[in-house]
Amino acid sequence: MKFITRSLHCLAGLLVAIAAYAAPPVKSDAQFKPLQTFAPFQFQHPVNRYRSANGSPGPDYWQNRVDYQIEATLDPDSKTLSGTVLIDYANQSPDALHSLWLQLDQNRYRTDARSNFTRDKMPELENHTDGYDIKSVELEQGGAFKPVHYQVSDTRMRVDLPDALAPQSGKLRLRITYSYTLPGRFGGRTDWYNTRNGDVYEVAQWFPRLCVYDDLRGWDTLPFLNSEFYLEYGDIDYRVTVPADMILVGSGELVNPQEVLTATQQQRLAKARKSDKTVMIRSAAEVTEASSRPRQGGTLTWHFRMHDTRDVAFGASKAYVWDAARINLPSGKTAMAMSAYPVESIEGDSRWQDSTQFVKHTVEYYSRRWLEYPWPNAIAEAGVAGGMEYPGIVFDWWKLGGKKLYGLTTHEIGHNWFPMIVGSNERRDAWMDEGFNTFVNVRATLDYDGGKFVPKSDSEYAPGGGNPVEEILPTLADPDAPPILTRPDAIAEKYRHPVTYFKAALGMVLLREQILGPERFDKAFRQYIEAWAFKHPSPSDFFRTMDSAAGEDLSWFWRGWYRHNWQFDMAVTGVRHDESGQLAVTVANLDKLVLPATLQIEWSDGSKTRVRIPVATWLQHHQFDVMVPGDKKAVSVGPAQGRRPEPAITEQRRDDAGSLASLLDPASALAGAMQERAMPPMRFRVRLSRA
Ligand SMILES: [Zn+2]
Repeated sequence: MKFITRSLHCLAGLLVAIAAYAAPPVKSDAQFKPLQTFAPFQFQHPVNRYRSANGSPGPDYWQNRVDYQIEATLDPDSKTLSGTVLIDYANQSPDALHSLWLQLDQNRYRTDARSNFTRDKMPELENHTDGYDIKSVELEQGGAFKPVHYQVSDTRMRVDLPDALAPQSGKLRLRITYSYTLPGRFGGRTDWYNTRNGDVYEVAQWFPRLCVYDDLRGWDTLPFLNSEFYLEYGDIDYRVTVPADMILVGSGELVNPQEVLTATQQQRLAKARKSDKTVMIRSAAEVTEASSRPRQGGTLTWHFRMHDTRDVAFGASKAYVWDAARINLPSGKTAMAMSAYPVESIEGDSRWQDSTQFVKHTVEYYSRRWLEYPWPNAIAEAGVAGGMEYPGIVFDWWKLGGKKLYGLTTHEIGHNWFPMIVGSNERRDAWMDEGFNTFVNVRATLDYDGGKFVPKSDSEYAPGGGNPVEEILPTLADPDAPPILTRPDAIAEKYRHPVTYFKAALGMVLLREQILGPERFDKAFRQYIEAWAFKHPSPSDFFRTMDSAAGEDLSWFWRGWYRHNWQFDMAVTGVRHDESGQLAVTVANLDKLVLPATLQIEWSDGSKTRVRIPVATWLQHHQFDVMVPGDKKAVSVGPAQGRRPEPAITEQRRDDAGSLASLLDPASALAGAMQERAMPPMRFRVRLSRA
């Protein structure tokens, strides 16, 4: 028996004699094995008193708390940061702790750092720094600070406690004095660089921070190789002393504006607090005017405070132009969107003057759709870090405008939700922040200014600008491509965006548009966000929440899309009219992944019938005869094609389109809801055998 595979658009002539084809048997060595695809799915982490079967924190869920008070000085001449951090640590765990582990991320820039050996090639060593210079580590004992023993291992430090910290209630105060040389552009996520009106400093990972001690692994001490962070929540109060001519923008609330801003700037900030339009706080013309600083010469100390956060970062420069506008939140509260950038960022095609409105829209949109933004400011800072997120502040590429700046802003600001609010472990499960964030970015793009920047297409999602489903196929077909559930440090750079961002986001799109439908998906995903805000969810918690809250056992999807990199290949293998006049369409699932799909039959009079083929079809079958009522002659049988939605419709109407689209096959749902173009289906082939 011979298979003939044809693409849909050349079937017209062939299908006139459609009834002549009979279904060939599916071979017994087929890729698809129902018992494998639908086997019970073992979640990585068990259900217990800490984590419930419904994916929520359990009745005895706990996490430790860390509050920081930092006093630091940034010296632009020597390019050093020196500081003292007071750390208040509260042990809520059921375990006595004999030592603490801290992250020393600046050690990543040492010449002997492990991270030099884990990239595509070893970086040139000339740009490296000496990492942290730890001057003292002291524990408060009996009202006085006394040195304690510590040991540094790559980017971690273990501090040994003279007395174990008691379970559930133990508290201690640690004091660490340190300094380090700021890395230049080599720093990647934290750096300094030159601009016409002065250097710009993007300062992050700038104080020793506690590793997380949790119920999943105890101390989570993965070193900083290249993957991001996993940090405890608490309040961070920080003071940074810089030359008086510098402006600082930092995570959280500026506590002492009267000391570090001019009267005019304070008035303009007050005006911005009530303005939906962007208000200039320090204009391009004012950057070089001495009057734009409250003091000439000497230093000023900027004081910031941020509640319920896992980290803080700041930008510092005398070159900053600074603007701001009000953010309107669903509860009626307001926050501030801000941007700080050198004059180069508003020259040529670079349009950072639009940045604050992008920040404002992004925060308002995610607050409306998912969870209200909890912090007083959301800041975009322009620099060479390129696109790096910290709570309340992002470092975005300094020379961008239009769609590219919008896309970068909505992504980096989106990280405030994943992982800054929903505190998953970026270092182990990067897909839970990059994938979730990229997914919400796709929908934010639809909402912005009538879909002005649709479709979202960049290195992180559908980079070819086409059909996302088509663009993921090479990754699914690549035998070397890692599954989503891979330790991020083990994912080669060539797969990082395709797998961790794009495939993980497309998985959410398929869940929403195809598998669950928008209403069930949104309710379940919101439940996940609310349950785990300011907590530490694991992948198992996410999977369990979606199963339980959305009311669907999605084991087959978690297995096929996340644990494995399986392919989807469904085919029409036969079409015949039976004696009762019905059309029997034989569909076969030929590869390991299963997905719901929609069959479309076009009749000789031009009318069409659509039949939804549920995933349950494949529990017991490799192939199945779908009976379609109709006494007319079928002229074409195949996957339903997507519809092109009207341009520039609102999010609400997009949702309506999404609901309709969820009745269609995967690709057409994407066409309806996600992109303004018709899309071909994902490997839904029409195969006909000659009788
Ligand atoms: Zn990201």
